[in-house]
Amino acid sequence: MALEVHQFTCLSDNYGFLLHDNESGCTATIDTPAVEAINTALEEKSWKLTHILNTHHHFDHAGGNEALKEQWGATVVGADNDAQRIPGIDVRVRDGETYEFGASAAQILEVPGHTSGHIAYYFAADGISFVGDSLFALGCGRLFEGTPQQMWTSLQKLMALPDETVVYCAHEYTQANAAFALTVEPNNPELVKRAEEIDRLRADGIPTVPTSIGLERATNPFVRPMSEGLQITIGLKDAELVEVFAETRRRKDHF
Ligand SMILES: [Zn+2]
Repeated sequence: MALEVHQFTCLSDNYGFLLHDNESGCTATIDTPAVEAINTALEEKSWKLTHILNTHHHFDHAGGNEALKEQWGATVVGADNDAQRIPGIDVRVRDGETYEFGASAAQILEVPGHTSGHIAYYFAADGISFVGDSLFALGCGRLFEGTPQQMWTSLQKLMALPDETVVYCAHEYTQANAAFALTVEPNNPELVKRAEEIDRLRADGIPTVPTSIGLERATNPFVRPMSEGLQITIGLKDAELVEVFAETRRRKDHF
């Protein structure tokens, strides 16, 4: 395990992540939500920023790219097919490629839906992933630029990772997501248990991120369209999985 993750809160509900490769000394920020908070975190850890790994172009993810690149000379990595919207991009990556970060390697997964050029980074040797706004704890990103079919394909790609994979998502939305999840799958005992645990954690101000693929598979309605209980609750028993996903997403948009 060569990688160390330092997680911190910034803006109203974003998480920032610094990723440090102990072997090479390289340090990346996953996205650039808030320049000052990232610099404070770097100072706390006594790390020097060498890389910016972008998941997508939204301002609370790439808005600090240029300032941090100028300050640190960091290499900006982002999606090849969204390069025109990633400020300062130096290295363009595509689905299925491996990006060498210091002595570690990230597999690139294109996960469109929230935006058309959204990517995730999966460090298989360390069992960790950075998924931006594609998958959330008990949720998924809003479909700003993609179809339900695209997002469902993207989520399936993430769900194909090993259950124990640690998932760093970019926002603390979990409590609101849990409230919604309980309306569509009220009889999932693991979800009920998790929702109680989330309330306890949030009451003490404790982050519910990271999560894991296995936990999401068991409790997140957006990756559970095959659940009979969910299908019955939303009136789509035996429907195509993508239809069940689309209806779940539609209900959340109006929740
Ligand atoms: Zn976003």
